[in-house]
Amino acid sequence: RVAGAITASGLLTVKSPNVRVEDGFIRSRFRYVTVNAVLDEEGNVVAIPTERFYRFKTKFQPRKLGLLQVGWGGNNGSTVTAAVVANQQGVSWETRDRVHLPNYNGSLTQAATLRVGFDDHGRDVFVPIKSVIPMAEPNNIVLGGWDISGFNLADAMDRAGVLEPDLRRKLRPHMETMKPLPAAFDRQFIAKNQVPRADNIIESQDKQVQLDQLRRDIRDFKEQNGLEFVVVVWTGNSERYAVESEGVNDTADNLLSSIKSSHQEVSPSTLYCVASILEGCPYVNGSPQNTFVPGAVELAKKHNVIISGDDFKSGQTKMKSVLADYLIGCGVKIKTMVTYNHLGNNDMYQLTDEVMWKPKSASKSRVIEDIVDSNGTLYKAGGDSPDHVVVVKYVPFLGDSKRDVSEYTSETFMDCHYTTIMHNECLDSALCSPLILDLAIFAELFSRVLYAVEDENGKVKEESFSSMESAMSVLGFYMKIPRTPPGEPIVNALGRQKSCIENLLRALVGLEPENNMLLETKCP
Ligand code: NAD
Repeated sequence: RVAGAITASGLLTVKSPNVRVEDGFIRSRFRYVTVNAVLDEEGNVVAIPTERFYRFKTKFQPRKLGLLQVGWGGNNGSTVTAAVVANQQGVSWETRDRVHLPNYNGSLTQAATLRVGFDDHGRDVFVPIKSVIPMAEPNNIVLGGWDISGFNLADAMDRAGVLEPDLRRKLRPHMETMKPLPAAFDRQFIAKNQVPRADNIIESQDKQVQLDQLRRDIRDFKEQNGLEFVVVVWTGNSERYAVESEGVNDTADNLLSSIKSSHQEVSPSTLYCVASILEGCPYVNGSPQNTFVPGAVELAKKHNVIISGDDFKSGQTKMKSVLADYLIGCGVKIKTMVTYNHLGNNDMYQLTDEVMWKPKSASKSRVIEDIVDSNGTLYKAGGDSPDHVVVVKYVPFLGDSKRDVSEYTSETFMDCHYTTIMHNECLDSALCSPLILDLAIFAELFSRVLYAVEDENGKVKEESFSSMESAMSVLGFYMKIPRTPPGEPIVNALGRQKSCIENLLRALVGLEPENNMLLETKCP
């Protein structure tokens, strides 16, 4: 055996009695082993392994996919668009040091790999994640969207100032014909400093009229581009919280009647969400506001439509969910986490408004709760959590270049202090744009998946196959506050989230979960 690793560029074929391709579906059988952990009165745990057999049935071919971004003319929206056009057209660009070719680095589907197993020489064999199961190609995704600002996408890209000037010049002819659709807008949900850019809005302030228009926009986009499936992603500004109350947005029916009566607590983002659900399109909430009021969640479930949120997990928070997992996972007790962000883009400008900052502050603060809760040896229940401080500042000169400085002070062996200081710098939109593409690609994939559980005789009825839960927690990898189905605990630790995605993909093609034991070599 020789050590080493290779990444194959071709497709993955699984030869196993657990999987077959038939009638346009990948049909897999998957043994899911879990543990029922029962706590007795003395605090002892009795672990009872249980198993159930799942059948998955995944439509083989990805559908022709469209992505509608709410906030298309923003930094993220224009950067996603520029990257897709550059990749489609093979546009290269020059900087002082070299010529650059377009790529999709930073995307899990496009640039990360999954370990399949050992080859005959004992080398680890990896495949790109996109080769595990057919997925939509980002170059084939048709882009569109809404924005309160009427800038065409070339001007929006220049306004964002994220990409290099040479690239922007070359992309301009491809992007100046792209123009955002008029937006559903309500000035009381957004910071005052954003109002001057609102020159492209649906004229009527009647919420039912706005909803009907958004639904028409989705249908037209689908029809005009010959699309089979559309995903809607909110990458608009962070809104204030909508007030949740009985009779207004607590049930699907009440929410729909509140829209009809133009109730002031129905936010624009909830209107986009409801429009998407009613048109059968998954909706992703990339900001922290409570778009998914209980009525919207119920509506998504009723219509079997995927929803995912809240708030993209792209930079500091992602790092936090890795570092906290590492420290606490190694038995080191984090006592303080103090983090500073500063940048100067429009999103940060809008967050200078106290009311808009509130949801963002909450979503940034909650991100290690499950990691702390997982270690009751270090942290006693109630009041023993780390001091967690998050400061963000608007520094216009830096534009989209986000800086974060974080200091973690922990107690380790015999209460000795262990301090970690970290500094990151990256363009905010370069962190976020690949996530938006991945979310669209995975939402399309997971909406092709049906599952059934075998009965005690190992049989399933064809009619018992159903879609996965509409609250798509498997996409929690991309979210600061992952939305989960009722009863499912939130997982923030990035490693656990990533292995959830990988193992689900493996299950869909009849492979066991990765266990990292490598017993072939340890116990040959
Ligand atoms: P941005 O301000 O550049 O873009 C937001 C766009 O949304 C603007 O063009 C604005 O005109 C538009 N908009 C506002 N209200 C709208 C409405 N009702 N309908 C349609 N368009 C509307 O911000 P950005 O940097 O692109 O970030 C977008 C969102 O993603 C923000 O809410 C941000 O908090 C969230 N987010 C970003 C990151 C990241 O970039 N790394 C990480 C987490 C979350």
